[in-house]
Amino acid sequence: MSGLALNSITKQFGPFTAVDNVELSVPHGTFVCLLGPSGCGKTTLLRMIAGLDSPTEGAIVLDGKDITQVPTHKRDLGMVFQSLALFPHLTVGENIAYPLRIRGIGREDQVKRVDELLAMIHLTGYADRPVHKLSGGQRQRVAIARALAISPKLFLLDEPLSALDAKLREAMQVELRKLQQQLGITTIVVTHDQREAMTMADTVVVMNGGKIRQAASPIEIYRKPADRFVADFIGSTNLLPLTAQGGTALVLGHAVAGISAPSGQATASLSVRPEDVKLAAPGEGRITGKVTFIRDLGGTIETFLDVSGTEVVAVSTPRERPVVTVGQDVGIVIDPETAVVLSA
Ligand code: ATP
Repeated sequence: MSGLALNSITKQFGPFTAVDNVELSVPHGTFVCLLGPSGCGKTTLLRMIAGLDSPTEGAIVLDGKDITQVPTHKRDLGMVFQSLALFPHLTVGENIAYPLRIRGIGREDQVKRVDELLAMIHLTGYADRPVHKLSGGQRQRVAIARALAISPKLFLLDEPLSALDAKLREAMQVELRKLQQQLGITTIVVTHDQREAMTMADTVVVMNGGKIRQAASPIEIYRKPADRFVADFIGSTNLLPLTAQGGTALVLGHAVAGISAPSGQATASLSVRPEDVKLAAPGEGRITGKVTFIRDLGGTIETFLDVSGTEVVAVSTPRERPVVTVGQDVGIVIDPETAVVLSA
């Protein structure tokens, strides 16, 4: 296969397993985000792909070639790591040209390539600026250009945008994704920000405890989470108790048409996204809750309900939501098409 394959990668630090039997295939030209809470092993996995750490077990294969034992500088990588800062005493052009210079590329070709890269990162004319006079976002773009100077096979980034303020970070996410698509370069980014992963990735790899919990497209991760961890980690969701009673599944004590319990399990959870909870008049046989709080954000309204001790959140736009008030009893309608049954 053209692209990157991780075959049963495990990394132990003494008795501690930081990465646990990871299997992943990254087709050529795709954008993958490794996403998970702090300590889930995403940086360790990226460091192994980069050759900065070696796996305790398993193989790393790039374009059909086993590179597990190949040193970093021979792996044909571009890297932007938090710790790999720009050279502050050099200009923008000198920074970008650095990897070309150490590979013995001629002066003229260096200048040509630097100009190309500056155009690509929208900093044409900045070659002679000292790096310390750039803004945070501009510096980040220069770091990206420097990493791409040698046209690597694989582009690896560890939390590349985490130092930027929220607005700039969002803009850079779009820019990075566009650049990746334009170059068609296989890219792996570590992030703990799920919105960032959803914005940029073809495939989001959700990790926890050193294991991959799910690897799928952003929309599939959101719509069809594989387990409770993924459902809860990605966006917000209502995890409602589901009990099986003589072949019927009860959600919050009520049978919901179209929802059945997993076979052989007395209890499970139903994941329902807040935007999929519809409010209605209370009715016979319908799940009913009391409104406890309303958060009106202008564009969306979050309605918090108490259903026999379980909190349910419904999100709607001002147009679709029936007018409700705190303390009112309201019916809840769950669409079985959008709800996901998850094992306990
Ligand atoms: P963060 O988002 O906080 O960077 P992460 O998901 O990238 O977290 P890793 O840095 O991969 O997590 O670390 C995974 C686990 O491995 C952590 O519990 C960490 O303490 C441990 N670990 C990482 N490097 C080492 C090391 N060199 N020696 C011992 N333990 C390590």
